[in-house]
Amino acid sequence: MRFVKVQTFDQWRTEARRLLLSDVPPEQVAWMADDEQLSLFDSHGDAELPVTQAAFTVPKAFLELAKIIACHRIGTRWSLLYRTLWRLMHGERHLLQITTDQDVDALMSMRKAVTRDVHKMKAFVRFRKVIDSDGREVYVAWHRPDHRIVRLAAPFFSRRFSGMNWSILTPDESVTWDQTSLQYGPGVPVSDAPDDDALEELWKTYYASIFNPARVKVDTMKREMPVRHWPTLPETSLIADLLHTAPERVAAMVDQNEGFAETAMHYMPERIDLESLRAAVVDCQACDLHQHATQPVFGEGPPDARIVLVGEQPGDREDLDGRPFVGPAGKLLDEALSQAGIRRGDVYLTNVVKHFKFTEPPTSRGKRRLHQKPNAREVFACRPWLEAELMLIQPIAILCLGATPSQALFGRDFQVSKHRGEIRATDWCDRTMATWHPAAILRMPDQHRRTEMQQQLVADLTRIHPTRPPT
Ligand code: SF4
Repeated sequence: MRFVKVQTFDQWRTEARRLLLSDVPPEQVAWMADDEQLSLFDSHGDAELPVTQAAFTVPKAFLELAKIIACHRIGTRWSLLYRTLWRLMHGERHLLQITTDQDVDALMSMRKAVTRDVHKMKAFVRFRKVIDSDGREVYVAWHRPDHRIVRLAAPFFSRRFSGMNWSILTPDESVTWDQTSLQYGPGVPVSDAPDDDALEELWKTYYASIFNPARVKVDTMKREMPVRHWPTLPETSLIADLLHTAPERVAAMVDQNEGFAETAMHYMPERIDLESLRAAVVDCQACDLHQHATQPVFGEGPPDARIVLVGEQPGDREDLDGRPFVGPAGKLLDEALSQAGIRRGDVYLTNVVKHFKFTEPPTSRGKRRLHQKPNAREVFACRPWLEAELMLIQPIAILCLGATPSQALFGRDFQVSKHRGEIRATDWCDRTMATWHPAAILRMPDQHRRTEMQQQLVADLTRIHPTRPPT
């Protein structure tokens, strides 16, 4: 038996390559947890190994997956990765596609746990301003993730807060951004995290301003903001006060007709899964669109879909049927999916806005109601439904169809005509792309241009499809 001790993904990759080149099977390797000690009689991983195998190439999809699994805290991660790698290199090239395989199933569960933890970190990290010894402002946050995810999450913060100097401290590892590069260091106990400061006050002000006492759901707050994170969130110290004064504040809101920017967050169910969300959206009144539409149209597709397609809002047909993409635009999308070799049943289809916004047609135009673009307030109000869908599904690829979903995910300045087909990382997925909405293609009067846009839609669907292990 060979005993191998590794701590990082890079170390595991080096050792795994060495073992594979020497044809050492998984059952002859003991991957040791970080704190395990070798006994005097154990053979050591550093010993010379004869190279008996030819050089090999590891599928990129596996390497991407392995980087995520390496962040999981479970001690068996290295042995599971090596066993999977061994199988991939010994005649099971399509192993990762066999979701019923025990090892693959374990890997997928671990990936889900890690990526979920990354999303939580993005949502719950709060920076506090401190002045460093050179008099510069530095923003510091302390966070306790479930897994070792600092290196997975740090690039998101460097993009989001590129113009600030900041540090995120966790018990495992710390990361610092100096507006140029990310530097990693040792973990930091909570006692070293900075305390009260101006930024904290800012957060408190912000939180108080969006807090709608008419809709307080303590259980929901606890679920969305797990209690173990509460000590590091400045706004939580306000919750008791805000709850205490809720009745007076509700009365004041009613008296003054105060326009709190309500969002669908207030209609979230106690249990967060796709079925509960689908049931809860029926009661949503976070904006006026529910008043005239027939019904909300929630997303549709497998809960573990690898691709999510996001449109703008349901159309006339969808509003009547209660299903997304079943009208003329849906037919065009079906054709494009089929040409791209993607089964509609494998993707999750949804919209940024769940209720149909329309005007009645002039009498000369028949009965079909005319689509109206949702405004920023309606998109903002409806966004929590989409975010909950994306958080649950955790797709490998997202394709935004048209301007509204693209601007919701990439930012308000995003232009589909300029950036269509570019794959970018967003808060929700590293592979996010914008393309034409099928309805925009249908509306294009110029036949030549219409054909071109249709071909581009097919090409974008083909490109955004998550990489499969090579055949
Ligand atoms: Fe709620 Fe969205 Fe419907 Fe507005 S459009 S009522 S936010 S579900």
